[in-house]
Amino acid sequence: MAVSAPALGDAFAAIVGGEHLTTAPSQLAAAAVEGVPPRWLARPGSLDEVGRVMSLASVEGLAVAPRGSGSALDLGAPPARLDVILDLSRLTGVLEYVPADMVATVQAGVTLDLLARELCKHGQMLALDPYGGGSRSVGGVLATNASGQRRFRYGTGRDLLLGARFVQADGTVTWGGSKVVKSVTGYDIPKLLTGSLGTLGVIVEATLRLHPVQPASGSWLFSFTSREAAGSLAAAVLASSLEPERLAWLNAGALERVGSERAEAALAVSVATVAEAVTSQGALLGSMASRLGARVSALDEGFWTRVGGGLASSTVVKLASEIRRLPFWAGEVERVISRHGLTVSLVGEAGNGILRAAVEGSVSPDTWAREIVAPLREALAAEGGSLVVERAPLDLKRAADVWGPVPETALAVMRRLKTEFDPRGVLNPGRFVGGL
Ligand SMILES: Cc1cc2nc3c(=O)[nH]c(=O)nc-3n(C[C@H](O)[C@H](O)[C@H](O)COP(=O)(O)OP(=O)(O)OC[C@H]3O[C@@H](n4cnc5c(N)ncnc54)[C@H](O)[C@@H]3O)c2cc1C
Repeated sequence: MAVSAPALGDAFAAIVGGEHLTTAPSQLAAAAVEGVPPRWLARPGSLDEVGRVMSLASVEGLAVAPRGSGSALDLGAPPARLDVILDLSRLTGVLEYVPADMVATVQAGVTLDLLARELCKHGQMLALDPYGGGSRSVGGVLATNASGQRRFRYGTGRDLLLGARFVQADGTVTWGGSKVVKSVTGYDIPKLLTGSLGTLGVIVEATLRLHPVQPASGSWLFSFTSREAAGSLAAAVLASSLEPERLAWLNAGALERVGSERAEAALAVSVATVAEAVTSQGALLGSMASRLGARVSALDEGFWTRVGGGLASSTVVKLASEIRRLPFWAGEVERVISRHGLTVSLVGEAGNGILRAAVEGSVSPDTWAREIVAPLREALAAEGGSLVVERAPLDLKRAADVWGPVPETALAVMRRLKTEFDPRGVLNPGRFVGGL
């Protein structure tokens, strides 16, 4: 027999403590995900409490959305149902840090800033620099597979997550990964959980691979009067023996937003290694860029935090293309979007084939779906690329599926996994690809 709402509230309060359960309608409205308010917001203080909240939610058939820092809750389709926000911000322990092994195990609510402060004491870092910055939680960054410009050298969370302790939809606590004690499923859990948008399990602890902070670094902005010339420099750098750490593409709109001098397109490059190599790689980069007609300026390290500001907009689209095609797609996006009187800022990861477009201006849902998203998506798909709407007002999200079509064979595998991990549809129902 289903338990009444007040009795359920009492039961959640008994698990997390009354002061860690939010039931006030105004506060719940403020915590809404894509306009859908939860019925409860619970802030568990331990792994055991997370398990008990999930177990109760599962038995009662409630829908749960895990929340880290709350910065990326608009990623994905609007929730099909939402009852409980499971806020992990109290889980901020650095549980084990072994500098000699360059491995740390942390709780999911630890922010990137907090972790960075711990690791820098030993000259180490977690090499994830997602847009949105250091206030983002480790759990949220992993669940969205968020990465930034350092992805070029260090990869994404998929490469850096060695093991994870997670709570399954029914409340079962499971370990998966390199420190496996017991893996009930036999899957590569860290790879599955990274980017699954909280639809397969609640990440509560992450064992992370760390990297040393390099002794010296240098960053430069190479500005061009043509997109083609910027593309030629990106191709030349990638074909060279240079080992950049970051390789960012910016268009005129993004340059303006980050406070850099105006140009048609620019490439920002950083090198991090020993001091002599930074100097020699910087000189080589400078001469390659000058031959292509670049204007060169030195950048401070703060630029790499500011670069995300180029994407500050309520509408952000992410394109994935073959690396060498990124300059072409930058032009296509500008052409298609500006045709409708909208402005666009582009920030790309030129060494990974990722391009993000922040769109400003007003557009009807129909125009958005038919004349912007569909043609770009189809043209990208024809050469193996993809387009995901990472952020957009609800009316635009409803007009065009944020994920885009997924091959039926891939969707069948995802459905099977979802059924195995979350047969009752407790975790983030409706948010992922194909309505999973
Ligand atoms: C032809 C081609 C060649 C490429 N070659 C290279 C290369 O040599 N080297 C290189 O670094 N990159 C290359 N890229 C780019 C590479 O494909 C992107 O890095 C990749 O698309 C990023 O996907 P991701 O899953 O790693 O992470 P993210 O794109 O960051 O995805 C975040 C999470 O969201 C979910 N997600 C995102 N999009 C979708 C979607 N459409 N459907 C379902 N779920 C989604 C996933 O679960 C994912 O984990 C190439 C791309 C193409 C098209």
